Amino acid sequence: MAKIVLVLYDNPVDGYPKTYARDDLPKIERYSDGQTLPTPKAIDFQPGTLLGSVSGELGLRKYLESLGHELVVTSSKEGSDSVLDQHLHDAEIVISQPFWPAYMTAERIEKAKNLKIIVTAGIGSDHTDLDAAIKHDITVAEVTFCNSISVAEHVVMMILGLVRNYIPSYQWVMKGGWNIADCVARSYDIEGMHVGTVAAGRIGLAVLKRLKPFDMHLHYTDRHRLPESVERELGLTWHASREEMYGVCDVVTLNCPLHPETEHMINDETLKLFKRGAYLVNTARGKLADRDAIVRALESGQLAGYAGDVWFPQPAPEDHPWRKMPHHGMTPHISGTSLSAQARYAAGTREILECYFEKRPIRNEYLIVEGGKLAGVGAHSYSVKK
Ligand code: NDP
Repeated sequence: MAKIVLVLYDNPVDGYPKTYARDDLPKIERYSDGQTLPTPKAIDFQPGTLLGSVSGELGLRKYLESLGHELVVTSSKEGSDSVLDQHLHDAEIVISQPFWPAYMTAERIEKAKNLKIIVTAGIGSDHTDLDAAIKHDITVAEVTFCNSISVAEHVVMMILGLVRNYIPSYQWVMKGGWNIADCVARSYDIEGMHVGTVAAGRIGLAVLKRLKPFDMHLHYTDRHRLPESVERELGLTWHASREEMYGVCDVVTLNCPLHPETEHMINDETLKLFKRGAYLVNTARGKLADRDAIVRALESGQLAGYAGDVWFPQPAPEDHPWRKMPHHGMTPHISGTSLSAQARYAAGTREILECYFEKRPIRNEYLIVEGGKLAGVGAHSYSVKK
């Protein structure tokens, strides 16, 4: 019998929903690169329901208990009375989501003597110390592609929101005003602007594709160049380095994983390379940017706006300066956990668990670490400390 610890975000303050705004989800046959959606043998949940909060349990309880396993579901992950820490010593599997990450540090991994696999119900396993997972031969897997489009949609929304000054204008309505000039004194069109993505993986490329009809000039930088046909079709300009790309862009969006090569890549020095009045959207990871450098750049006007949904740590403390800095459009970490995305990552987590318990290989595209080394998609997209 295995113990599975599932760390999920809290239920809504008004309680777990009894009804939903819509009755179904659109049917998606395949991801845009041809990858199949998750293929568990069965699911025990209704797609379109709230699966990512503690009462949703990712729809896993029936399945796991039918196999005789013990499932612990909690949102308590930090502090001296953390339920996660209480169960780590004999947990075989830890599952969490980047929105409410169980930070699987080297210390926690050291204590978890029985731990065999860490699953990210979503994308991005930077909350796990990959070096420690490698050292202890713990498998790390995530549900690649499950919410990439969800995030790309959020990026487009945030770019439009910042450039068109949507949130302050909405606030004028809420305050009972009709203050056109206050609303538009910072409002522009994105048409004709230059937008660049750091990384053109699943999310970055999807953002570029979605922005093309807005008649923006599209730029990207990545470790591997996209096929020439894709560059031609979208009219992309490739840059050999991100530093070279920043200066030509009115809008920059970050879509790369957090790893030693990318941590704090946005800092006081690199922000000087941006055009004055550029907008920065970061839905990838909070630690890609130096927290206080972002605040300084907004206060000085070097950045005209900053939006995103990723912070460090998560949940962000009440006094996190990004809550109150000027011209921001931050959300809590929600872009990849729409009800649509939840159905996919819950099914993907179930698929990974079925493979694990039935001793079948986990899909290569889900693997980050296996057999004491970076593996699968992890070997392609991540790096470890040198
Ligand atoms: P992909 O693996 O498809 O894309 C990541 C891309 O980043 C790859 O093209 C990779 O390049 C590139 N890359 C890696 N390191 C660098 C670097 N140093 N400089 C430039 N490019 C680099 O992942 P996704 O697009 O699906 O997701 C990207 C990230 O977005 C995730 O790692 C995660 O952190 C974040 N995310 C956020 C979510 C949210 O809810 N806010 C949800 C999902 C993801 P190459 O392959 O060429 O080596």
